[in-house]
Amino acid sequence: MRIVLVGPPGAGKGTQAAFLAKNLSIPHISTGDLFRANISQGTDLGKQARAFMDAGRLVPDEVTIAMAKDRMAQSDAENGFLLDGFPRNVGQAVALDEMLLGEGVKLDAVLDLEVPEDEVVKRIAGRRICRNDSSHVFHVTYNAPKTEGVCDVCGGELYQRDDDTEETVRTRLEVYHTQTEPIIDHYRCQGLVVTISALGKVTEVTDRAMEALKKSDEG
Ligand code: ADP
Ligand code: AMP
Repeated sequence: MRIVLVGPPGAGKGTQAAFLAKNLSIPHISTGDLFRANISQGTDLGKQARAFMDAGRLVPDEVTIAMAKDRMAQSDAENGFLLDGFPRNVGQAVALDEMLLGEGVKLDAVLDLEVPEDEVVKRIAGRRICRNDSSHVFHVTYNAPKTEGVCDVCGGELYQRDDDTEETVRTRLEVYHTQTEPIIDHYRCQGLVVTISALGKVTEVTDRAMEALKKSDEG
């Protein structure tokens, strides 16, 4: 399956993507994780992205689209992928449409995670991620690691993302409403959007998502 996950920052996209990708046997591709890996490796791409990320703004399309295409061209993504954080504006959505059209394949669904704004602010404020692998995501109260500050998966150090500050979160939410939300209408016109509530336990949301994807596949 080829799926796009969409939802405000802190909705739980990365958390859900880890389970959904495993259940569906497709790679989880997060452009945010790819940028963070580039930053920690000190690459030119990471240097270009950093200032935009720290400010809560989108990294320019030219850089982002090239990076996402590169990742989707890898062999593990040949038969499907779960995109998390890409596309994030209509220009990126059009670039993805063109890329898939060129390959003669299509998206199967766009899974839209709905969460009230006060909840995403609480989720982001308590988010902690692993230094070794930013797809290992915890929350100080909602999804606490067994040992404070230590990743349950690999024992790595947990830290708070540089862009998870109150001021940056406000900018990221505004960017989401003005630039990312319009992609939902773009995909609605293609009949691809499936909206679910992302409130409740992580496992409940995963079940809801799997059910919704199954229905959209049958329909
Ligand atoms: P996104 O990728 O959409 O920015 P994350 O998956 O990183 O969001 O989740 C944001 C924070 O919310 C993390 O700290 C995560 O542990 C927590 N979280 C995710 N899903 C839930 C949930 N269903 N209930 C409570 N907290 C959650
Ligand atoms: P995320 O991990 O998805 O919350 O993304 C963190 C930050 O990375 C965002 O605030 C942006 O600065 C940048 N980023 C991630 N994905 C994209 C994208 N598709 N387009 C532009 N910037 C992105």
